[in-house]
This record gives sequence, C-alpha cells and structure tokens, in this order.
Amino acid sequence: MNRYFDHNATTPMSAAARSAWLEAAERHWHNPSSLYREAGFAKQKLEEARERLATLLGCEDAERVVFTSGATESNNALFSSFAQSLPKDVRIAISSIEHPSVREPARAAFSNRVIEIPVNADGVVEPERVRELIEKESLALVSVMAANNESGALQPWDEIAKACETAGVLFHTDAAQWFGKMGQGVTAFCRQPGEGGKPSLQHYITGSAHKFGGPKGAGFIVLREETESLRFIRGGPQESGRRAGTENYPAAEAMVTALEEITPRLDEIAVTQQAHRDEFITAMKQSFPDLRIISERAPRLWNTVLMVMPRHENLKWLTRLTRRGFSISTGSACSSGREGSSVVVQALGASPQELKRVVRVSGGWEHAREDWLALADAFCQVDQELAGRSS
Ligand code: PLP
Repeated sequence: MNRYFDHNATTPMSAAARSAWLEAAERHWHNPSSLYREAGFAKQKLEEARERLATLLGCEDAERVVFTSGATESNNALFSSFAQSLPKDVRIAISSIEHPSVREPARAAFSNRVIEIPVNADGVVEPERVRELIEKESLALVSVMAANNESGALQPWDEIAKACETAGVLFHTDAAQWFGKMGQGVTAFCRQPGEGGKPSLQHYITGSAHKFGGPKGAGFIVLREETESLRFIRGGPQESGRRAGTENYPAAEAMVTALEEITPRLDEIAVTQQAHRDEFITAMKQSFPDLRIISERAPRLWNTVLMVMPRHENLKWLTRLTRRGFSISTGSACSSGREGSSVVVQALGASPQELKRVVRVSGGWEHAREDWLALADAFCQVDQELAGRSS
C-alpha cells in the first residue's frame, strides 16, 4: 500500500530518472567545460538535454533554457536580475498566493513597489484584476504561478500572460507544481498560437525536477528570449555566462528524462487519479460534514486536497496519521511543522483558529483507489482516537 500523500512537497525519483542519472554519472562525470574529449561528450549530452527540454516545452530555441538547482534558485535569480534590469521606480505585481521563493525575493528586490493581486473566493487570480492593475499602475512585471502548491488551484496563467504581452508587460510563471501533473498545455508554456498561427507568447517560466520524479537540486528557467544576457550567478562562463558553476549534467539528464517520461501519461493519470481523489473527498465529507475544502469549485490539480478540518489542530492529525504510516502535510512544504502557515487559507481570510486546522493531502501518479480510501479511513480512526473513543 502506498501511504505517501505529500507529492506536492517532493516526489520519489522515477525509475527512468534514476537509471538516466546513474548512466550519466558513470559515463559522463567529466567537467563539461573542460577541453578534452570526454568533457566534450559530457557537454554534448548536456546540450542535448537542453534541446530535449526546450522541445518538450515548445521552445523554438534551447538557448532560452538555463539549468539551475531548483525552483527556489530560479525564482530568486529572476527577481534579482529584474531588479537590476528594470527602471528603478517601476512597480511589479505578484499574486497573493505565490510560493515564498517568489514572494520573498520579489519583496527583497522591489520592496514597497510590489503590488499583491488578490485571489477570488475560490483561490484563483482573475485575469480581469490583472488587466485593471496593468491599466492603473503601469506595471513592468506580473508574476502568477501556474498551479498553487497548497490548494492545487490552477491559475489562468495563459490568459494573464496574453494580457501582459498585449500591454508590453513582462510575465513570469512559477510552474513548479504544474509540470509532472498537467500534461495538456506543457508545450503551451513557450508557444501559444498567435495571429496567423505563429508562436507568440514569450515569458519567463521556472520549474523544479523533484516535483515530477526528477532529482532534488535540479531545476530550470526558461527565459523570454534566447539572446538575454542575464547574469544570475557570477564566476564562470557556464550556461552561456548566465549561471556560473560546474554544470550538473547527471541531474539535468535525470530531470529531462523524468519529464519526458511522465508528460505523455498525464492525461490518462489525471482521469484515474481525480476519480480516486474525489472518492476520498466524498468519504471525508461523510465522516466530517463540516469539512471545508479549499478551492473546491476551482479547476485544480488532480492530486491535491487542501482541507480545513472541523476539529483538532493540524499537527495532531499529522502525527497520528504518521504513526499509521501516512505522510501528509500542514500546508506548503516549506512550512510543514509550523502550524497555521497556509498562505492560501490566509489569503482567503480565514480565522486564526481555522489556520491551525489546515491539512494538505497530495497524491501521486500510481495511487490505487484503496490507498485513498485507507487514508480517509485513517482520518476517521484518528478522529475517534482524539475524541478518546478508541485507544
Ligand atoms: N515554487 C513552488 C510553487 C513550489 O511548490 C516549490 C516547492 O515546494 C518551489 C517553488 C521550490 O522548489 P525547489 O524545492 O525546487 O526549490
């Protein structure tokens, strides 16, 4: 039985990614920037991995792809470089439900020139609000995540991106939770049919390998244009001078292999897993009629349920479920262990008491119906235990 329900925090490495990593580490461990033959092979494989990722994302030019150590680095790098390249007095807008790896660097770089875009009652950013802001505030940049890590709510990033493009505003989307879960539209990240069917959409995209079966410590940035000469990390010519440091070819290889392997399977997985997830919700509502599911009416990732439990603090649920072998979370990965820290539930205006009762369940690609139902059953047992009705 698979009792791991914290896939939005991290996923196990897929078999394909693991063997790709091993082969790359055994055969091509040389420094890709060195000048001898073996190093040249490693460099060539690294560039092939870049091409493959670009193709998967619908990018015309692989030079738009920069390999990094993950989405946190990618988001930090972008906001620091925006702060240097944009005029000093511009304002930027980010959604009120961004991951801390967007929110904190945005604030550090632009301080009180950051405007927060509120979400509606379903935890979704409305493109109309973004259009209003663009008109009113003469923004230079908008950043809205593709899928929320806590609630799973899908954000209309493509519509917002188009609005930004029309207005000449830069757009960034943190797609760390989208890749590996949403099959349709992966290529749409770089390429949208514009007028006359031409690819038109060009914006910044960030992603993270360990959310889709790749290794930890690997991620990427897709830049708006292949010619951008940004310097995220200084100290060497690697990644076209954008990110210095010896390239981690095995991690890049494993990351791209994981995404290539999972993406074509995702539409089918989504149908099966969403049905299991919805059965879990039905079972939970039978046991807990006052259960509140966040973003329930919004289109959301097929694997995620963010709940405000009707009673008992989240750490009590978490520790007792752990004893039964189930891994769940109290909200976002970065804040697990800290009570009441759900950014989304706070953005929706919850009471401090409700914030302490937030739990997140996030399933994987291979869960069986029985796994989900066993989890619902375990919630029931824990409730009885906490009520002192059973041992
Ligand atoms: N952005 C989102 C939406 C995330 O969910 C996460 C991880 O939880 C990150 C960024 C950070 O990713 P990484 O662990 O690769 O730094």
